[in-house]
Amino acid sequence: MTEFIDTIHDKTLRAIAEKVAQERPASDADLLHMLTTNDILDLGSMAHHLRTNLHGDHAFYGVNMNLNYTNVCELRCPLCAFSRDEKDADAYTLSLDEMEDKVRDAVSFGIDEVHIVGGLNPLLKLEYFEDMIRRIKEIKPDMFIVGFTAVEYDYFARLNHIPLREVFRRLMDAGVGALPGGGAEVFSPRVRAIIAPKKISGKRWLEVMRTAHEAGLETNATLLYNHIETPEEIADHLSRIRSLQNETHGFKTFVPLVYHDKKTQIPAKRPSTTGFGDIRLYAASRIFLHNVPHLKALWMYVGEKMAQTLLHFGADDIGATYHYEKVVHAAGAPTPDYGSESHLQRLIESARMKPVRTTASYKL
Ligand code: SF4
Repeated sequence: MTEFIDTIHDKTLRAIAEKVAQERPASDADLLHMLTTNDILDLGSMAHHLRTNLHGDHAFYGVNMNLNYTNVCELRCPLCAFSRDEKDADAYTLSLDEMEDKVRDAVSFGIDEVHIVGGLNPLLKLEYFEDMIRRIKEIKPDMFIVGFTAVEYDYFARLNHIPLREVFRRLMDAGVGALPGGGAEVFSPRVRAIIAPKKISGKRWLEVMRTAHEAGLETNATLLYNHIETPEEIADHLSRIRSLQNETHGFKTFVPLVYHDKKTQIPAKRPSTTGFGDIRLYAASRIFLHNVPHLKALWMYVGEKMAQTLLHFGADDIGATYHYEKVVHAAGAPTPDYGSESHLQRLIESARMKPVRTTASYKL
């Protein structure tokens, strides 16, 4: 690392590399510099050094299914192509029997994790979710359940007039094992007012995550990028995640999600993301979020080839098979709605890394 530092021409990047070598955190100003530098190779080398220190040559993937239980949502965020009003012809809400059939079908493919997210549907009370999870556990008792975003938990608490802590307790009793990181989008109030004006604020999202961590649940954190946000707003977003993590240590994985705009009401104000931009964002995130152990490059969002490449630029996880995913595909993601386990293994092996199958718990 020391020899490598001497070869970096950019003074600020060199100073960041010195911090990385001494295991000191990068500052907010460093992050902004990293998010705007054109020197992605030096940035990538630093990120890869950190990723290798954390995980060696292991690269994680999972075999799971998505359960998008309803597309009916009160909020109808402009960023969302998935949601519908209840009266729409293609609105749906899965009955518990339909859900069970899907899970049984996916169990026959060998899944060991169910990833559950859906719309904010006022007809679904907390008992529906408790029953849903218990029925999944009856099908396969050791199934790992990554269930519901911070936005859904906040809604469950308000809709059922139950304190948030009680919602977590009841769903943990039923079998929820971890939370996905969705709904974070970009914390900036300016951005949220345009892309998701009715969604909980960034401040509330962080409060819900704090409560989840205090309840003993580990969670992911996401960033939705490449729409109308600025580098400063991305830097602020990552900084808030890192600050909460310093207190709770409950974030397991950071997951940047590239924005797909088809059929949404806010067509991106910029062209689709580039490999250059993706690499810069992932590498900067790995360096800045030194206290979040995993960085996920979801193949379904960034594409398989990019996910594989990002394994050498800070990422250590390419995501899972995601049978039945609906949300990002509704917004035009061109990837298939699932990748086979052997395909994900091949992507990792051809990047000269060791595939490690896991769930969101990262227990091997
Ligand atoms: S993004 Fe989530 S909260 Fe917003 S409309 Fe879509 S499903 Fe509802």
